[in-house]
Amino acid sequence: MIDLRSDTVTRPSEGMRAAMARADVGDDVYGEDPTVRELEERVAGLLGHEAALFTPTGSMANVLAVGLLVAPGQEVLCESRAHIARAELGAHGAVSGLTMRTWSHPRGQVDLAAVEDLFAPDLGPFFVRTAAISVENTHNFAGGAVLPIGELQALRAFASERGAAVHLDGARLWNAHVATGVPFSAYGATADVVAVCLSKGLGAPVGSLLVGPAALVAEARVRRKRLGGGMRQVGILAAAGIYALDHHVERLADDHAHARLLAEACGVDPATVDTNIVAFDRPDAVAVVEKARADGVLIGAVGARTVRVVTHLDISRADAEAAARVLAAL
Ligand SMILES: *Cc1c(COP(=O)(O)O)cnc(C)c1O
Repeated sequence: MIDLRSDTVTRPSEGMRAAMARADVGDDVYGEDPTVRELEERVAGLLGHEAALFTPTGSMANVLAVGLLVAPGQEVLCESRAHIARAELGAHGAVSGLTMRTWSHPRGQVDLAAVEDLFAPDLGPFFVRTAAISVENTHNFAGGAVLPIGELQALRAFASERGAAVHLDGARLWNAHVATGVPFSAYGATADVVAVCLSKGLGAPVGSLLVGPAALVAEARVRRKRLGGGMRQVGILAAAGIYALDHHVERLADDHAHARLLAEACGVDPATVDTNIVAFDRPDAVAVVEKARADGVLIGAVGARTVRVVTHLDISRADAEAAARVLAAL
């Protein structure tokens, strides 16, 4: 089987497993795991922020991040297919007690005019107030689309002028960086709090980080424990993340090339594929997924009509070419 359902399906390589086995560890709830601290400092530095917090999942990093910026009863604005709106099972409402309104863009981009229309200033005790705006880069369900840095900068300026915060769901910020060459610190400067995942394109088995100002990250540490996310000798997991940062960032360019090759086979213009995800609409999405499976290729349906194909570390050029032949025939 050639597995193109998600970039989360990768298995740790020998090198990564060796790094995990060697890791120095301690009890991270006491702040005593040196490998976790090294990873947190490294990722905070990379994004030009003061501090970072290791979390078991990207969903937990997002729930903590948005919950720090938006009080119960306030709202966050985001694009309608954002992961926080569609793929976190309502956690932001169920756990944090906040509300959400959305704008829609076919490529998951910031639509500043729409944001301006939605934005609700503090008008007193009558209306829900917009406390934060959330963006996703790259945008998962919009086919791995990159959000241009200029638009993120404009959004940050818009939000700052109105006293609102910006959350960046950067689960695949690594892919955006490799696709554009924009430094991580430039992306970091466009948000108050950023979440990044190690378990997507970077190929680590577990782990995400929340990145932001020291005071917010300190509060996130308390809330992570409250959610049951305080972990002990997790340096063995952080070591996988450090290994991934050392070895698996620049190679994302291969995944992007493989995705363009698969796009062509699926009848999608490769010029519209920014990174490692190809998403396209088919009225019979579920049937297409089943037929591909029968021919040895696993792909996913991420909506009643949307098919998604994702390349990753465990997909070689030959795998991508073989899958492209199967998908083209379908
Ligand atoms: C995968 C993903 C996350 C986090 O997912 P987890 O499975 O909880 O780690 C967050 N945002 C986006 C855009 C993602 O693709």
